[in-house]
Amino acid sequence: MKRISIVGSGFGGLSAAVRLQAQGYQVTLFEKNAMVGGHAYQLKKDGYTFDMGPSLVTAPDIIQSIFRAADRDMHDYLDLMYLDPFYRIYFHDGSFIDYTGDSDRMKAQMAAFNQQDAGNYDRFMEHISQLYKAVILDGLGAKEFTMPTMLQFMPEAIRLRALQPAYSLVTRYFKDPRNRFCFSFHPLFIGGSPFRCPAVYMMIPYLEKVGGVWFTKGGMYSVVEALQKVFLEHGGTVRTGTPVSEIAVENGQAVGVVADGELHRSDAVVSNAHFAHTYKDLIDASHRRKWSDRKVKKMSYGMSCFLMYMGVRKQYPQLLHHTLILSQRYKDLVRDIFDNKILAEDFSMYLHVPSRTDASMAPDGCESMYVLIPVPNLEGSTDWKAEAPGYADKILNFLENDFGLKGLREHLEVLELFTPEDFRDQRNNHLGSAWSLEPRFTQTATFRPGNRSEDIDRLYLVGASTHPGAGVPGVMLTAEVVEKAVLEDLGLPQGKHEHQLEIL
Ligand SMILES: Cc1cc2nc3c(=O)[nH]c(=O)nc-3n(C[C@H](O)[C@H](O)[C@H](O)COP(=O)(O)OP(=O)(O)OC[C@H]3O[C@@H](n4cnc5c(N)ncnc54)[C@H](O)[C@@H]3O)c2cc1C
Repeated sequence: MKRISIVGSGFGGLSAAVRLQAQGYQVTLFEKNAMVGGHAYQLKKDGYTFDMGPSLVTAPDIIQSIFRAADRDMHDYLDLMYLDPFYRIYFHDGSFIDYTGDSDRMKAQMAAFNQQDAGNYDRFMEHISQLYKAVILDGLGAKEFTMPTMLQFMPEAIRLRALQPAYSLVTRYFKDPRNRFCFSFHPLFIGGSPFRCPAVYMMIPYLEKVGGVWFTKGGMYSVVEALQKVFLEHGGTVRTGTPVSEIAVENGQAVGVVADGELHRSDAVVSNAHFAHTYKDLIDASHRRKWSDRKVKKMSYGMSCFLMYMGVRKQYPQLLHHTLILSQRYKDLVRDIFDNKILAEDFSMYLHVPSRTDASMAPDGCESMYVLIPVPNLEGSTDWKAEAPGYADKILNFLENDFGLKGLREHLEVLELFTPEDFRDQRNNHLGSAWSLEPRFTQTATFRPGNRSEDIDRLYLVGASTHPGAGVPGVMLTAEVVEKAVLEDLGLPQGKHEHQLEIL
């Protein structure tokens, strides 16, 4: 039986593991941390449950496609709840929009800011639906993006203005800064600057509109657990607490991984670790022509974030499940994060309160909350060990005194912080870049590191560093790309079921 080693168990690694194991390969998943999940790790403390990273479940069809690939139905494993609105966005002047997939409700709210903007909503949605069609329905997001694919897509990309910055596309349709924000911030969800991330990623608001924003009972970690369960049901092997120290290469071909001082031989290796860690730290420089240390370091790495996990012995019924609270500054704040790489005085934040939807996330009468603040990656000079406690204090003050969460400090039972340094140390994210390579034109599609390594045969990359990129749906698609590449290169594994052959 052909064996495959996978380094890392983020959503990309787990999805690839399920797909490849279900195809009949014998897959072993090596994870450095104590549990699987990567960014979707779970923290449990004093009766509170926190998803440490992703919290918005989108594109359930893409999640289902992984279960289907393993002959399973996602609904047997997950209890999905539709969220309406998707999130509330508070602007600095106290006004807000309840962002939803319902066109009429969106238009009514937008009209309060600018009548003409509301009139342009349908045209805008029609525009970004075409981006969605190209990436999702026509499958560009689920196949290797080679130069011929790029050239083929180019006329369409130019017609759809897919290569211009996301924000520029939005300004063609909307005038009010609040409406402009609502439809241009989505690149931040995948670690990109709205002011230079190509507008092709504006398929995300459309993907939300047609697919919805969901919560899974028990939190995002229930998706991780479900995928792990399916993988184990198919006979896969999970080795947690097992960091890989080297990807072994012989005659230009990956032949296994070194973990616990031992070489585990396999016919192929899939790395879900951060791209820079994979090449720079795990593969000897003598095997790398394209991805030399110099080239890896020269790539542009996206932002990081500061996270606060808070267990509060009090409830705040005025809060929704997802809330964005914005600073007055947009472009300049983004520039401070992405270009100046300084920790600005002001901040915009995302507040996640899953206990508003699912009481099991916190003890009775309590609230499980997390705050996410985009901050520069470690190319900046912030010393997070010194800075974090004071920064957290500032955020708590803001939430209690300016945002109106009365008694927050007094009722705080749990407070855990996670900084860019933790992304670097706990997840091996180069420069603490939580979303990996910045999605900008020169690092998009064919310009992203190949899902099939350019340097080493039988080495495949899956996850946020590769095409199509970060975000749970994105990394799940990278697993589909890798599955196809492995099947092409290794051929069908022995013992493959008849019906799986038919699907191929
Ligand atoms: C705070 C935050 C919030 C987010 N919110 C959302 C959201 O709401 N919705 C959404 O769709 N997306 C969201 N995202 C993006 C999404 O979570 C990520 O893009 C995605 O989960 C990344 O998955 P991945 O497959 O790239 O692997 P990762 O999650 O990066 O996992 C990589 C794994 O590899 C392991 N590893 C690294 N080196 C080694 C080694 N040498 N040996 C063994 N194991 C190793 C790491 O420990 C880790 O477990 C969020 C991201 C962050 C950081």
